[in-house]
Amino acid sequence: MKYISTRGDQTPRGFSDILLEGLAPDGGLYLPTHYPQVDAATLARWRGLPYASLAFEILSLYIDDIPAADLQRLCDATYTETVFGTPQITPVQPIGAADEGLLLQALSNGPTLAFKDMAMQLLGKLFEYELARRGEALNILGATSGDTGSAAEYAMRGRRGIQVFMLSPKGRMSPFQQAQMFSLQDANIHNIAVVGVFDDCQDIVKAVSNDLAFKRDFKIGTVNSINWARLLAQVVYYFAGYFQATSGRVQATPERVSFAVPSGNFGNICAGHVARSMGLPIAQLVLATNENDVLDEFFRTGTYRPRATAETHETSSPSMDISKASNFERFVFDLLGRDGARTQELFGAALARDGGFTITPAEHARIAGYGFVSGKSTHADRLATIRSTWQASGVLVDTHTADGLKVAREHRQKGVPMIVLETALPAKFAATILEATGVNPEPPAALRGIEALPKRFVEMTADVGAVKRYIELNCPA
Ligand SMILES: *Cc1c(COP(=O)(O)O)cnc(C)c1O
Repeated sequence: MKYISTRGDQTPRGFSDILLEGLAPDGGLYLPTHYPQVDAATLARWRGLPYASLAFEILSLYIDDIPAADLQRLCDATYTETVFGTPQITPVQPIGAADEGLLLQALSNGPTLAFKDMAMQLLGKLFEYELARRGEALNILGATSGDTGSAAEYAMRGRRGIQVFMLSPKGRMSPFQQAQMFSLQDANIHNIAVVGVFDDCQDIVKAVSNDLAFKRDFKIGTVNSINWARLLAQVVYYFAGYFQATSGRVQATPERVSFAVPSGNFGNICAGHVARSMGLPIAQLVLATNENDVLDEFFRTGTYRPRATAETHETSSPSMDISKASNFERFVFDLLGRDGARTQELFGAALARDGGFTITPAEHARIAGYGFVSGKSTHADRLATIRSTWQASGVLVDTHTADGLKVAREHRQKGVPMIVLETALPAKFAATILEATGVNPEPPAALRGIEALPKRFVEMTADVGAVKRYIELNCPA
């Protein structure tokens, strides 16, 4: 399999090259030249596989420059019951009233209690493998407002050839999120608390990455969600969810299911788009936003209008407080018939010139063929959904999952199971859960009391030069 850019560069690249790269040189995102098709016989064969073997089957359709035995070993070592808590890895259970046909797929039982672990755990192993093969090292520089930082640090801690420099806004994460990161004592993990807001952290990362000489000399890499390997790892759980939701039902035609996905950067649901494009029988991909409804607006109207930072609401589902969805370009590229020049015009020129763009009515009409529908959810919706779900099924859902559940209910179709993807555990967002139900959600035993552990971090002003100097001092040359 080869990879091309969404902005027209057709130079074919292999998986292990794009693994360590961020954007394509022309500023686009990488996508495979085509989506391998999975027929009914293959689906039947995959149905009984353990999660790690299913991951290997799907990954090997997209990776041909890592020997199969090595890839199998990496998958087996990643998706274990020890790390993810259950033999199914992403177990599916009914939720809501019995006649609603709603299911919940648990994606948040990894080390940091959010779905980011599903991909990041594999990415850590892939990075270590590839760097060792090349005899190279990598310094990962990132900015986090909460979940990505801890998922990346837990995945990369102690790995050979990798150091992590993670910027976070001082005092602005939840105490639990902060403790998840700052309590790590591994020498290759560097937590930098920046006196400022998340955007300051993000700006520093961009400024450092744009200094090409520094980037090259200090081997700076990233782990943000535009990385194709992260997206690919997420395709697997759509298949796993489908098999569980349709198990034990023998039917002449393959049964279809729908997925509802709490969305921010469009990474999670883009993996659903890839799974559907491979032939997985998905009826609808239900995109749920919170008050930051840029994507809901696009799917309803065809206009994409990223908001300025000042227009981005701070909500009780903070991991979706995103106004510029970094993976969205991938779907638009497919929607426009993979026209790289037009994608370049929309995401390059039009965004810079007009701050947004509108696709044609004919293009907008094509969205239905991709299964996408959308909706939004507010703080009041979250509280009502968390409370009613707790009362009806005795299940506590987190605030992001509640957004998904609320919008899922608006798009239910008779006879089509609707799988809501759980993107975090309630313990990460305890204050809102308490507000909705009066119940204080406890983290799993291994993470109880982490707020009291010794913290390892340095504090810095929002200054690019200071961050660069810190990296220089802490890099083995
Ligand atoms: C990252 C995140 C999301 C958003 O996922 P995207 O892939 O960015 O769309 C939703 N919920 C939680 C809990 C997250 O951490």
